[in-house]
Amino acid sequence: MTTRVQTSDADGSYEPIARVLVSRRRLTARVAELGAQISADYAGREIHMVGILKGAAIFMADLARVLSIPATFDFMAISSYGAGSESSGVVRFIKDLDESIEGRHVLIVEDIVDTGLTLHYLRESLTARGPASLAVAVALDKASRRQVPVPVEYVGFRIPDAFVVGYGLDFAGRYRNLPYVGILRPEVYTR
Ligand code: 5GP
Repeated sequence: MTTRVQTSDADGSYEPIARVLVSRRRLTARVAELGAQISADYAGREIHMVGILKGAAIFMADLARVLSIPATFDFMAISSYGAGSESSGVVRFIKDLDESIEGRHVLIVEDIVDTGLTLHYLRESLTARGPASLAVAVALDKASRRQVPVPVEYVGFRIPDAFVVGYGLDFAGRYRNLPYVGILRPEVYTR
């Protein structure tokens, strides 16, 4: 059995990763700031966090634990139709929410907003279900790639146009568990 070994540098960086874009330390610090901001904005209310599987799982777990307001959880899983890694904006629900969001203060939690097509669709379809309010928190934002304008109330980091993995984000199902956001070595794609 071959096991990939974590190297011992400060970021704990890992051999398939060419460059660490957002370190674990910066993620932790920024998520704490977002938690404080969200807790202040929703003071006196209960928030209903809707995580978009699978990518948002890690961010949602971190964000939930730095909130100082009551929170409930639900998850939905979606998949975009379209060639390769390009988003088409046509979204299929693979797993819908378990509970109604009517009258609740919903916070959609997403890993990354890229073209904006997925979030645009999600905002429209969840708004139609009558929440008391709806807002979005994303860990990462590739603003330069936007094709549709979509409001994003809480952004962790704006990043350049590069395909990233880690902190919930995958390539072919892998690397979601990396504790930082990194850019893959090109050999990983071409193998
Ligand atoms: P959008 O509809 O905004 O173009 O796409 C959002 C979705 O595309 C994200 O939820 C994510 O699944 C995927 N995505 C966009 N950029 C990246 C990236 O750099 N890395 C990974 N792993 N997924 C990405």
